[in-house]
Amino acid sequence: MSSVTYEVLAVRYGVLAARKSDLYYRYESYGEPDAEASMAYYFWVLRGGGATILVDTGFDPEAAARRGRTCLVPPLDALAELGIAPGDVSAIVVTHLHYDHTGNLHAFPSAQLVVPSRELEFWSGPHAGRGQFAPHAEQGDIDYVTQAVAQGRVRATEGTEEIFDGVVAVSVGGHSAGQQVTVVDAGAGPVVLTSDAVHLYEELELDRPFAVMHDLEQMYAAYDFVKELARSRRAVVVPGHDPDVFVRHGGDDTETNRVAVQIA
Ligand SMILES: [Zn+2]
Repeated sequence: MSSVTYEVLAVRYGVLAARKSDLYYRYESYGEPDAEASMAYYFWVLRGGGATILVDTGFDPEAAARRGRTCLVPPLDALAELGIAPGDVSAIVVTHLHYDHTGNLHAFPSAQLVVPSRELEFWSGPHAGRGQFAPHAEQGDIDYVTQAVAQGRVRATEGTEEIFDGVVAVSVGGHSAGQQVTVVDAGAGPVVLTSDAVHLYEELELDRPFAVMHDLEQMYAAYDFVKELARSRRAVVVPGHDPDVFVRHGGDDTETNRVAVQIA
């Protein structure tokens, strides 16, 4: 048990209408008819021990518009609605360097960034620019994080590390080279913010990998890791893009004015 426990909020700021065949890797292999499906876009807020920590920062509304994503509320406005000013945020856990998790970092110039070292390595390496990887990141965001490393503002994590009292970061890979899962002590038990290690509940329930992946074996292993936390520690699992997160935690699945639900 840690001495600090956290309130955990999921902030929903965007939505995307899609089809199952867009969301699941080789969907045709399941022999089921295609169907409509949707995704939601979230980032997460941890409040505990007097600190406010963000897990990711959502997408930049301008980048999202260019990519055809619907922004329900700009992430920084959502934070303002929750009474959180950028200066209140002491640290940002950046789970991976895809554009919908790294937008808006520039609004937090004094926050410490926690980033998996494998992500830093990959996105500055020889394959980041390849056709199946590059579209998922914004070069401006990658450059910003690289500058932050040079400024000594980045804590690079390896494997499993307790990054704050009551917050453990686990780099699982799979979806992205160093994709990180964040395990938070919420008092009653752990909350697992999977970010994009698991986008949708069905990935776990039906054992179906998501369409965007770096390494299939690691993606399956990440599902096992998350399911084991749910089984052995009764952890609450929060997928990174499932609209149902709002339903299961007291919100709803329609476009309301509500920007956040309390997970714990
Ligand atoms: Zn991603």
